[in-house]
Amino acid sequence: MLVPRADSVCSASSSTKSGYRGRFAPSPTGPLHYGSLLAAVVSYLDAKSVNGQWLIRIEDIDGPRTQNGAITSILECLESHGLVSDQPIVYQSQRHDQYTSLLQRLETAGFTYRCPCSRKQLLVSGQHTAQCRNEDLDGLETAIKFRSPNRKISWLDGIAGDVTLAIEDDFVLKRKDGIYAYQLAVVADDIAQKITHVVRGSDLIDSTPIQLAIYNALDIRPPFFSHFPVMTSLQGQKLSKQNHAPAVDNECAFANLTKIIALLGVKGSANVSSCDEILRYAATQWPSVQLNAISHFDELKH
Ligand SMILES: [Zn+2]
Repeated sequence: MLVPRADSVCSASSSTKSGYRGRFAPSPTGPLHYGSLLAAVVSYLDAKSVNGQWLIRIEDIDGPRTQNGAITSILECLESHGLVSDQPIVYQSQRHDQYTSLLQRLETAGFTYRCPCSRKQLLVSGQHTAQCRNEDLDGLETAIKFRSPNRKISWLDGIAGDVTLAIEDDFVLKRKDGIYAYQLAVVADDIAQKITHVVRGSDLIDSTPIQLAIYNALDIRPPFFSHFPVMTSLQGQKLSKQNHAPAVDNECAFANLTKIIALLGVKGSANVSSCDEILRYAATQWPSVQLNAISHFDELKH
């Protein structure tokens, strides 16, 4: 388990051995690539190294971005690598009532306003229109935004250490088209699923101050965040769907895990021959792992 340093004054939680609840939460915009498989393995091992629970959540809040067949493909990929959720899988598309309820709590606490301004308008003028934040905007098409009391948010990260990041602007909680924003949904789900530890790639680190701001507004203790370096190609590009990163080949599941575990710095064991065994073995070695060593994707190619 990744833990905060003893001398820290972190607002994040630590947890008891049995209380750890981690999660892997892919967006179904395509099949998993090797970078996302690595993210799944890292979060899984961190949970299992302390006999914690590991949950899968499908972040399909943005319906138009969900690709046909991607959910099935992602779940098949995880399962073929021995990565199985300890609780029923949660789908964001089925949780709108919970997002409505969390948004109402933020509204009641005075952290929201209605914003009719377009992105272009804000970019060009750098200012909201005179109508914005007006109580009588109900008839207009508006986004609901979070009024950020603090622009700079600090936390003690399990891997990156002391981090301070700025929230650049008030952020959207509910879009003009009625879709709840990813950040609101993630916080609502992590609270509902009692997630104690979020272990994810550093490509998502910009989301963390936003999510922490929501926790602060709700006066709820946030999970303990850890961000590991993302896998890159030898050209230094982050692996992503946009960069046409190849989909994981489930036929090579054991070989994939062997390589990922080696990349994570776990010394191999000759006595493992299945995905379940290699995951169990790696979980016993986890505290010694040097996550900062993760850098190159090409080593995973077959
Ligand atoms: Zn506005």
